[in-house]
Amino acid sequence: MSDSPITCTLDLGQPGKRSGHLRLPRSSNQSGWSTQWIPVTCVANGEGPTALVLGGVHGDEPEGQIAALNLARELSPEQVSGRVIVIPCLSLEASRAYTRLWPSGANLNRSFPGRPNGPPEEQLAHFLSTALFPLADVVVDIHSGGRTGLCLPWSEMHWVDDPTQRHELVEGMLAWNTDWCCVYIDIAGTGLLVGEAERQGKIVVSTELGGGGHVTASIHRLARSGLANVLRRFGVLEGEIETRETLGLPPQALLMATDSDNYLLAPVSGLFEAVADLGQRVREGELVGRIHSLELPELEPDEIVARNDGVVCVIRAIATTEQGDNVVVVAREADRSELD
Ligand SMILES: [Zn+2]
Repeated sequence: MSDSPITCTLDLGQPGKRSGHLRLPRSSNQSGWSTQWIPVTCVANGEGPTALVLGGVHGDEPEGQIAALNLARELSPEQVSGRVIVIPCLSLEASRAYTRLWPSGANLNRSFPGRPNGPPEEQLAHFLSTALFPLADVVVDIHSGGRTGLCLPWSEMHWVDDPTQRHELVEGMLAWNTDWCCVYIDIAGTGLLVGEAERQGKIVVSTELGGGGHVTASIHRLARSGLANVLRRFGVLEGEIETRETLGLPPQALLMATDSDNYLLAPVSGLFEAVADLGQRVREGELVGRIHSLELPELEPDEIVARNDGVVCVIRAIATTEQGDNVVVVAREADRSELD
């Protein structure tokens, strides 16, 4: 922590409720000597685990930012056993611009574990990796498909080899009480926030709560209720733990998107037409989308077909598509026992 250029104005070891900032050095054309202030709220009370709740890693995913803002505002120390540290929005400038990436083009979620002397996004990643993750037992990182992708709302986890840690990740994933749960791989490189937290042995809970540039009221409710239930499940927030059963709901459907074939990429640039709907069951070889050429209207569109039997769980939300963009994800339906 000592080699980080970032400072935290809060003493995270103090009991009670406090709000402050992470201060990230910046220099801009408007101000040569400046710092970006990233709000952080800490609510601590007695013995218990520490949960770190993070929203807004990507700026165009308001679901988690709003759920975390509500939590930070409403949470009081009497409700907490242990400590809840909330950073509602890590990528402030991206959120203001309503873009996935920072205005600089940086993707905070490709920057972990970061470097203290790297660019700003790596400095922030390094501070999280070295100063905040070590304090946490549970790391909650709330995502959605953002403007470009529409996901079935789900909670998710990476496959990790350690069975004890994996069991905790499964428990956290189920505690969100989404209709769908997804085990996934990262097809777009390395440097994920959750990957570094997992590497440090943390219980990591993450989501993809819809997306497509529009958030419904039911998604906001799911973000809020799921987050609270995860905190209850790990003993840091007071109250009865809700299960699918106590909510009168059937068990979650488990999806595995752990094979690169699950992720269907555009073979050419053009205008994407979805042929299958979100949540639809499809067979291997079934048509799920088409890419039309704007330049050559007489050309038959390129067909996107499923490479496995499964459920359409992600659909590209904007039609304009470049070659190599992911347009559809078809996840395999799996049984809970596969995660044991
Ligand atoms: Zn995201």
